[in-house]
Amino acid sequence: MMNDLLHCRLIQWPDDQAAYDAAINESPANAGSSSTHRRKRSVVNYSKLWANSRTLKIAFMDNPEEHHKQKIINAASQWLPYINLSFDFVDDLQGDIRIATKNNDNSSMLGTDALLIHPDWPTMNLGVKPEHEDFEVIVIHEFGHALGAMHEHQHPEANIPWDKPKVYEFYQNREMNPLTRQQVDRNMFAPFNTLDAIYTPYDRKSIMHHPVANTLTLGDWEIPINRKLSKKDKRLMKLLYPK
Ligand SMILES: [Zn+2]
Repeated sequence: MMNDLLHCRLIQWPDDQAAYDAAINESPANAGSSSTHRRKRSVVNYSKLWANSRTLKIAFMDNPEEHHKQKIINAASQWLPYINLSFDFVDDLQGDIRIATKNNDNSSMLGTDALLIHPDWPTMNLGVKPEHEDFEVIVIHEFGHALGAMHEHQHPEANIPWDKPKVYEFYQNREMNPLTRQQVDRNMFAPFNTLDAIYTPYDRKSIMHHPVANTLTLGDWEIPINRKLSKKDKRLMKLLYPK
């Protein structure tokens, strides 16, 4: 059975204009380059990346225990060799990224969308307990979102043979965080067209890929939990935050 904990919520700010303004204000490069196809003016959405080479202040809002905090720091820091950003972890209520650890949710705002959240609220929830066997995977995955990475199963080249009626049924009826049909469409099926898709091909080994249960696909098709940064994950981050 699929590990439900790994089904994180990637949250994007609902007001696209506000999200665009925040992204451009952080880094004008987020406007991207519109490729000039003859008919289509732009195929690339704007991105939500942090200004390159800056330091991100990352706040622990609810005083997790020291060993818990250190495990989060160690996992998140696995991205550092591949990005031109620094992390400054602090015990504070204020930060570019604000982590809460006391509920059951694993979620993150996408990149600079974090700038739009009310300053009293977390931008990332890491409800996974430090004893959980996939604690590290989940923390790395959520930080991938915080750095601006999308869900790999929604890569435009993914072509996952979903058994859609079964996927709807599974998510609508599960006990924890059931999803509406619309939320399933948005979180599972809708392809993205941000820089991730332009820069790197689909990678079924990406840590940003949800596990895919065989019971939710047509034919014999599944993806296990990817527990390590893939080559593509590293390459994408190097391209998004070049040194
Ligand atoms: Zn996710």
